Amino acid sequence: MLYPTPIAKLIDSFSKLPGIGIKTATRLAFYTIGMSDDDVNEFAKNLLAAKRELSYCSICGNLTDEDPCAICQDESRDQTTILIVEDSRDVSAMENIQEYHGLYHVLHGLISPMNGIGPDDINLKSLITRLMDSEVEEVIVATNATADGEATSMYISRVLKPAGIKVTRLARGLAVGSDIEYADEVTLLRAIENRTEL
Ligand SMILES: [Zn+2]
Repeated sequence: MLYPTPIAKLIDSFSKLPGIGIKTATRLAFYTIGMSDDDVNEFAKNLLAAKRELSYCSICGNLTDEDPCAICQDESRDQTTILIVEDSRDVSAMENIQEYHGLYHVLHGLISPMNGIGPDDINLKSLITRLMDSEVEEVIVATNATADGEATSMYISRVLKPAGIKVTRLARGLAVGSDIEYADEVTLLRAIENRTEL
């Protein structure tokens, strides 16, 4: 169907979002046009501000609007433990259960031999640098229970163990292939409590 250019462009923008097909994109575009001027302005402003004001913490890689992020700056947190996650959404999931009080390291991806993604393609080198001269005693690998999550966890364990750092992995409370981001609080809590040494 042929639409006036402005709405065609809007449909195109929406359709670039994950999980949004052309049908949903069209519905969202028409909905947006029906919104009040104030709401549309607010929406556009939030999009731009999120993109402009957020960056990745230079220490842990978490998404933040200040550098270092609030977690890295918080000296009351346990400085001897680092929990390693795939992305910032996993940090939020962990913080929500309020049971973990250590530090984080965000990988922004996983090692994936199948897709040719190696250790240098994710935020791993900064972890090694970070661990030198640090008080860190334990690294908890909290990557998802997928093949790539396993490959990443194996690699981290192989690199860190010779340095005398205890490397643990979240317990198998999480179903294979499941996402930490979507795990319920009880499951996540149990997975941390029952973590196993690699
Ligand atoms: Zn940080």
